[in-house]
Amino acid sequence: MSIEFDIRLSDHRTPADERERLLEDPGFGRLFTDHMITIRWDTENGWHDARLEAYAPLTLDPATAVLHYAQELFEGLKAYRRADGSIVAFRPYANAARFNASCDRMAMPPLPEETFVRSLELLVDADRDWVPSQEGHSLYLRPFIIATERGLGVNRPSSSYLFIVIASPSASYFTGGTGIKPVSVWLSEDYTRAAPGGTGAAKCGGNYAAAFVAQAQAVREGCDQVVWLDANEHRWVEEMGGMNLFFVYGSGADARVMTPALTGSLLPGITRDSLLKLAPDLGVPASEDRISTDQWREGNASGELTEVFACGTAAVITPVGRVKSAKDEWLVGSGEPGPVTMRLREELVGVQYGERPDPYGWIHKLA
Ligand SMILES: *Cc1c(COP(=O)(O)O)cnc(C)c1O
Repeated sequence: MSIEFDIRLSDHRTPADERERLLEDPGFGRLFTDHMITIRWDTENGWHDARLEAYAPLTLDPATAVLHYAQELFEGLKAYRRADGSIVAFRPYANAARFNASCDRMAMPPLPEETFVRSLELLVDADRDWVPSQEGHSLYLRPFIIATERGLGVNRPSSSYLFIVIASPSASYFTGGTGIKPVSVWLSEDYTRAAPGGTGAAKCGGNYAAAFVAQAQAVREGCDQVVWLDANEHRWVEEMGGMNLFFVYGSGADARVMTPALTGSLLPGITRDSLLKLAPDLGVPASEDRISTDQWREGNASGELTEVFACGTAAVITPVGRVKSAKDEWLVGSGEPGPVTMRLREELVGVQYGERPDPYGWIHKLA
């Protein structure tokens, strides 16, 4: 039985002219639409009290569990406006499944996948005028769940939770005004993001809280982003900030791509998974393996390793142009976006915006 939503439309929506003005330069994740979804869970009632309601601040008791022990996790996906006026999401059931995998790790109750996707449909339908039509812009959807039990006990998970979805019209992350700008990365040998048995594969806020200090170090070193290495040896490349990494070997007809295998400390990106399928369809073999920082250095120096890029929902595909470590620094290829990177980006964006066929049925119509 699927849950019924109570629809309570806002009586103070943003006027159309103001909305249009805001949408001209939305930035990333700083504007929010008129509505949100909320669904509650507790041990007695399970999931209940599902609503679409006006976007508004939450009122939480200072002793609410999430504020102390960070029992929280989130998802991120986009709604795209297509030329034919429809609004679609890319693989929302994959986000629903990953949300539940994260819930499992964080001892939180799973949400039925249909309810997860239904909540996106209702929110996007109510706020469809907020879905940008500028090229490359989209409505970023942020489902998340927080522990709401009041009390400071630490021996068991919360007995109540709040699931929320908010939406943020956004330009794409990292792209400069003129197009795709490669990022520079700092190899983090002092800090680790995730360790075996830890929460690296769960999309929980705590992973990000623990990462800011390393990101700040990367910026002090003159880099845009941090590259995470494995916790045991600080040698095997895992991810870049909040994105997965791909390495391109060879060029032209001999090009192939490799992404670090999911060892349990990497976040299983949906963009990563999609590229593992799309690349071979374009004649670029794809594999999951591992690469050490020394192999990266050597492959780059010998010319065997031709391009590196990061991928994730927010920034799609972002080329890596320069790498810096405590002892050295190098340009990846010429430091400019490479042809395999750009070809894959074009294909993925093409599927999302409907300019390319969708052979795997990844597109889900929201409104
Ligand atoms: C969300 C996220 C990714 C990318 O996942 P997508 O599903 O492709 O957006 C990669 N790494 C981390 C740490 C993330 O949080």
